[in-house]
This record gives sequence, structure tokens and C-alpha cells, in this order.
Amino acid sequence: MRQKIVAGNWKMHKNAEETEDLLNELIDQLPHDVEAHIVVAPTFTNLASAVEHLEFTNIEVAAQNMHQSESGAYTGEISADMLRSIGVHLVILGHSERRAYFHETDSLLAYKVDTALKNYMKVIFCFGEELKDRQSGNHFNIVENQLRDGLFHIAKEAWANIILAYEPVWAIGTGETASPEQAQEMHLFIRETIRKSFGSDVAEDVSILYGGSVKPDNAREIFSQPDVDGGLIGGAALKAADFAAIVAAI
Ligand code: 13P
Repeated sequence: MRQKIVAGNWKMHKNAEETEDLLNELIDQLPHDVEAHIVVAPTFTNLASAVEHLEFTNIEVAAQNMHQSESGAYTGEISADMLRSIGVHLVILGHSERRAYFHETDSLLAYKVDTALKNYMKVIFCFGEELKDRQSGNHFNIVENQLRDGLFHIAKEAWANIILAYEPVWAIGTGETASPEQAQEMHLFIRETIRKSFGSDVAEDVSILYGGSVKPDNAREIFSQPDVDGGLIGGAALKAADFAAIVAAI
């Protein structure tokens, strides 16, 4: 069954104390009567405390990244096993900031996806075109290639552990949102691309989130599109009242 999901990607924001404050505010302010699955992704240093803090809530904690190797001499890196050992079972992979600033390629991401799945982690797999791709009308090709090269090697059964997040790069942190029609058009294309390769069961069951300048005042319209199953929220996830309003919009 397709799940509605609202996830907050906190990026490199909030120290330990600020994380605790925001989690407390979220516990107070998030609506209790929504059927959406709620996720927050604080930074690595605050994951363990967030898991502990949210233990008796319905809010899941995700990591923002993970190394592709199981272990080894990789100074400064974090493995899937380390995340699992503190109670984190969900990881965001392929965010456009990691692709752009840390040179993460589709083939590296394919490796990360495999390592996550092998370690019984679920994955929020991010992808999306840049402005130049949309302006040149190449956005469908780009998105299809990101999916095929980073994700489509997995087994059909593994899709139960995958959440997709379509995030057009030109809409991230820019205040420029894809119109509800643009989001729906792309989400439908994504679902049909999956259907062709993995069949209708997989295509109908996978949740496809939209990310890119989702705010309280545009969330409802975006979420009301038939193939948009929720959102991956950046800036607006850092304010409890805004995130709560976005969750309520689902
Ligand atoms: P903004 O909501 O700040 O545009 O960020 C979106 C995003 O990158 C979530 O991963």
C-alpha cells in the first residue's frame, strides 16, 4: 500500500541543543490525526539523541547520507551498520547537494543503495533535473537516466524499501516551486517508467515525494496531485509551526 510521507531534511542546521528544542516543538505541534508517516533527518551528530528523544512518538529518524562501504579506512565516514546500531533504519541517498558538492555519481549511488539494502535500511532516493535540463526540455531524459543508473538494478522485492523523492534542483532553496501540474506530470512519468520495468504492483505501491520550496501555503495544492505522495522538506522543516502546517496539508 502506498504511504503518504512528509520528511524534513534538516541539512547542516541545528546543533545538539537546537535539535532537542526543535524536536520538542514538533512533538507539541505536529497534528496527531494525519495518516502520513513523518520523518526527520537531523545531522549525524544528533541522530542518536533524536532516536532516543522520539522513541515513543510516531516520528521516524533518517540519516542524510551514508558511506557505500561496510567498514574500512574511510576517515570521517559513517556506515550503514553504525546507523542501524543507534536505531536509524532509513537513509536519504542521492540528494542533489551531495551530487553537486560531493560529486556523487549515479554509479556511486547504485553502490550506496545496495549497501543500504544489504544492511536492512530503507532508502529515500533523491533525484531531479537542473534548470538547464528543464529549459532545454531534457528533464524527462535526465530523471529517467538517474533512476535507471542509480536504482533500477535492484530486485523487484527490494522496492518495498525504497521511497522516491523528486527534487528539481532549480526549486531547492530558491523559493521557486514546481507548479502542481509540473510536479504531477513528472511524478506520473516516474511511476510509468517504473511500471514499464517492474510492473504495476511496484509502480502503484512506491511513494513518490516532491521536494523543492514546499511551504505551508503551497503544500496542499502540491500534495493534492494524484501521483504526489508527500514531500521532502528543507527550509520549512526547520520551523516547527511550518513543518506542522505542511504535515497537516497532507
Ligand atoms: P527546500 O525545501 O529548502 O527548497 O529544500 C528542499 C530539499 O532539498 C529537501 O531535501
